[in-house]
Amino acid sequence: MFDFLIVGAGFAGSVLAEQMASQLGKTCLIVERRNHIGGNAYDQYDAAGVLVHKYGPHYFRTNSDRIIQYLSQFTEWREVEYKILSWTHGRYWQFPINLNTFEQLIGRSSTSDEMEAQLAEWRVDIAAPKNSEEVIVSQVGWKLYEMFFKNYTRKQWHRDAKDLDSSVCGRIPIRTNRDDRYLSEKFQALPKNGYTSMFQKMLSHPKIEVRLNTDYREAREHVQFNHLIFTGPIDEYFDHCFGHLPYRSLRFEPESLPQEFFQSAMQVNFPNDHDFTRIVEIKHATGQKLPSTTIVREYPQDFGPGREPYYPIPAPDARALYQKYAERAASEKDVSFVGRLATYRYYNMDQIVGMALAEFDRLRRKEQVLPALYPRSSVV
Ligand SMILES: Cc1cc2nc3c(=O)[nH]c(=O)nc-3n(C[C@H](O)[C@H](O)[C@H](O)COP(=O)(O)OP(=O)(O)OC[C@H]3O[C@@H](n4cnc5c(N)ncnc54)[C@H](O)[C@@H]3O)c2cc1C
Repeated sequence: MFDFLIVGAGFAGSVLAEQMASQLGKTCLIVERRNHIGGNAYDQYDAAGVLVHKYGPHYFRTNSDRIIQYLSQFTEWREVEYKILSWTHGRYWQFPINLNTFEQLIGRSSTSDEMEAQLAEWRVDIAAPKNSEEVIVSQVGWKLYEMFFKNYTRKQWHRDAKDLDSSVCGRIPIRTNRDDRYLSEKFQALPKNGYTSMFQKMLSHPKIEVRLNTDYREAREHVQFNHLIFTGPIDEYFDHCFGHLPYRSLRFEPESLPQEFFQSAMQVNFPNDHDFTRIVEIKHATGQKLPSTTIVREYPQDFGPGREPYYPIPAPDARALYQKYAERAASEKDVSFVGRLATYRYYNMDQIVGMALAEFDRLRRKEQVLPALYPRSSVV
């Protein structure tokens, strides 16, 4: 008998288990169908000794002091400036677009004022951009959109940018100064010894038990619990009763190389060449000192049997279908739907930590009002 059955050992499930155990003395059983903890943030040392992010590069960043403080209980950090380049038209370009990119484009040195004046000429006048195409052309016009965004987005999502929410391309900064960092948040860092080590510390509480290679369907047959925290795909929880939600999947192709570095940046995007979208060499960010390196080519693919549901599709039709599941979920008793798959929305890791902490606060308040519903475990 457990106070909480938690489905999924990613950020959402692990933060909730840690808080329930350490703050309220609750017993938690986490079931995870993969053979490891950490969800998509899982990292591991490959045969060549290189620490790689198994499910694609995970660049931690946040503006929230509460989240930094919370996670810092379980890890030290290595501050990183995530730098990326884009390869198109036969050369590398500074990316995201900034004054350096503009200078490359015009072939001479320039100023922020000149770049702003030029973008003002190029940009398309759209007061309230409704989709990802509009959000980019309203900032930089068609030429830069076609160079860097149009085909990358199509490859990644198998949809045109005009059929995707503005948030997809809108999250990529466009700057007229020389700030060439990929991200804008004030805190950009990786756990010093990797994500998996951080998760191990988070889950080391004696009131937390983790069962790997265990699916929720199997666990629910024989585990007794008071409350369920579900962080898996919401459509799966309801046996796809309204139909399958669409997801985008990925195939990762790692390659070990007997050289210190393969490319000059952590990530190179390929908007217009090749079937893969990017090559990531995470060693640039982890700071590992080794004579060999590992690069990973990332191929977007449709979701289907045997493939992971990496990205919920940020588009109106998918959201409408999700809404039906969300309405059913709202009337489900003693179940919390938390995390990226259970709320069918792309969130960064810090947002998921924030969501899990908020759900913990909600459940704790509920317990204070209805202690009988959530009986306190014997030892705190
Ligand atoms: C390719 C890629 C790159 C990303 N890069 C970044 C980045 O750079 N920065 C950033 O902040 N965020 C990034 N993210 C997002 C980040 O992965 C998520 O924010 C975070 O992992 C979400 O945590 P979660 O716990 O909600 O979900 P997950 O990490 O997906 O964890 C859910 C877990 O539940 C398990 N599960 C599901 N169903 C069941 C079931 N029925 N039974 C048992 N277990 C089940 C799954 O196996 C999984 O381990 C990236 C995501 C992807 C896919």
